[in-house]
Amino acid sequence: MEPYRIKVVEPIPQPTRQQREEALKRVHYNLFDLRAEEVTIDLLTDSGTGALSAAQLAAGMAGDESYSGSRSFYRFHEAVTELTGYAHILPAHQGRAAERILFSTLLEPGRIVLANTHFDTTRANVELAGAEARDLPCAEARNLDSPAPFKGNIDLDALAATLAGPDGSRVAMVVMTITNNGGGGQPVSMDNLKRTSALCRRYGVPFFLDAARFAENAWLVTRHEAAYRDRTPRQVAEEAFRLADGCMMSAKKDAIVHIGGFIGLNDPELAQRCELLLIATEGFATYGGLAGRDLDMMAQGLTEVTEPAYLAERADVAAHLAQRVRAAGVDIIEPPGMHALYLNAGRLLPHIPPHHFPGHALACQLYLEGGIRSAELGSLYLGEEDEQGNPVKSAPYELVRLALPRRVYTRSHYDHVGDTLARIAKRADSVHGFRIVEQSPILRHFRATLAPVPVES
Ligand SMILES: *Cc1c(COP(=O)(O)O)cnc(C)c1O
Repeated sequence: MEPYRIKVVEPIPQPTRQQREEALKRVHYNLFDLRAEEVTIDLLTDSGTGALSAAQLAAGMAGDESYSGSRSFYRFHEAVTELTGYAHILPAHQGRAAERILFSTLLEPGRIVLANTHFDTTRANVELAGAEARDLPCAEARNLDSPAPFKGNIDLDALAATLAGPDGSRVAMVVMTITNNGGGGQPVSMDNLKRTSALCRRYGVPFFLDAARFAENAWLVTRHEAAYRDRTPRQVAEEAFRLADGCMMSAKKDAIVHIGGFIGLNDPELAQRCELLLIATEGFATYGGLAGRDLDMMAQGLTEVTEPAYLAERADVAAHLAQRVRAAGVDIIEPPGMHALYLNAGRLLPHIPPHHFPGHALACQLYLEGGIRSAELGSLYLGEEDEQGNPVKSAPYELVRLALPRRVYTRSHYDHVGDTLARIAKRADSVHGFRIVEQSPILRHFRATLAPVPVES
C-alpha cells in the first residue's frame, strides 16, 4: 500500500468523449498542445510532476531568500555532500542546465562522450559543445522482451575497446545514466558501475553519473544484485556516487521537486570553471537559478526518496500496472522498471506502417478513450523523411511511454489506464495511423501537426 495518506487534493479534469474528440482535432493530433485541464490522467512525464510531502512544504516555508550564503544553500549543500561525497556542489535550475555548464566547460570540438545511453537533452548539450555523443548499450538491451535485470548496463567490452583503440585519446568523459532513461528506464548494476569506474581510472578519463533516478537504480540493485541484498537503497546510492568523479542531476525526478538540479564534482579546477559559467548564466553559486525554498525542498526530497517503503511501493505500482497491461494483451519493454512503462505499439498495431506512426496512433487512442496522456517514442520522435515526405528512416521500435509521476496517482487511477488499454487492444485492427501535415526541422515531435489516415479495408 501507499506509505502515505492524502492531506491535500486536486480535482482531476473529466472531459467527455466528445470534448476529447474536439480537443484532439483542435490541436491537430499533437498531444503536447492539449491544455493540461483537458487531460484526466497525465502520464506524459515523471519530471517535476511529483507530489511534495508535508515535510518538504514545511522546509520550503523555512527557506532563506538571501541572495548569497543563504541558510537554504547550506542545508542543501550538506544533504547533497552527505549523499554523494563530492567536494564541490553547484545548484542549477534543472538537469539540462547542469549538463550545459559541465559540457561546455569540459568538452571541445572533436572530443567524444561515451555513455550507456545518452538522454536526449544530454546528447543535445554534448553536440552543442561540438563533441560526439556515442552510446554503448549492453547487448541484452536490444531484446525488449528479455527480463534480464540490468539492461541499463554499458557494454564493457565496447567501452574497453574504444578506450584502448584509435578513438581512445579523443574520449573526454564517460557518462552512466542511472536508471537508463533512453534505454527503457532499465537499471545499471553496481558491478557494471565498478568496472566502468576502474576502466576510466586506468585510462585517466573522467567518469560522471547522470543521476536523475539514482534512488530507483539503488532500489533495483538491492532487489536483483546478490552482493547488495542486505544493503539499504541509501547505502547503495552513496557507494554509487563515490565510484564516479562527479554527477549531473535533474532533481525533478529523484529529489521529488517541481524544479531543481545540481552538479557534483571532485576536481577543484573544473569546479572553479563551472562556477564562473554558473554565475554568468544561472545565478550566484549559492542559488544557481533557484529560490531558497527550492533548495530546502530538494534537500528534504533527497532524504525521502531513498526510504525503502516509498521505493517498494513505487516498484510495486509499476509492477501492478505492468500486470494489467500484459493481461490486456499489450507487450512492454521487460522488465517494467520504476519510472515508466514502455508499450510496444508496433507489435500491437502491425497494420500501421512506421511512417504512419503506430506509437502516435496508440497515444491518441489512449487520450480519446480514457483521457490519458502519454508520450510517443517511435518514428514520430526518431524517424526522418526526405523533402517530398517519403520516409527515409524509422525508429528501431515503435513505443509509447507511460511515465509514472511520484506519489500522485493511486492504483485505481492506474486500473483506469489498464482498462482503457484493454478496450483499445480488443479492437486494435480498427485503430488508424497518422500522416504529418507540418513539421519543424528539429525536435519535430513537439511541434508537428498531423491528420488521420483511414484504415484500408
Ligand atoms: C530529465 C533528464 C535530464 C534533463 O533534466 P531536466 O531537469 O529535464 O532538464 C537529463 N538526464 C536524464 C537521465 C533525465 O531523465
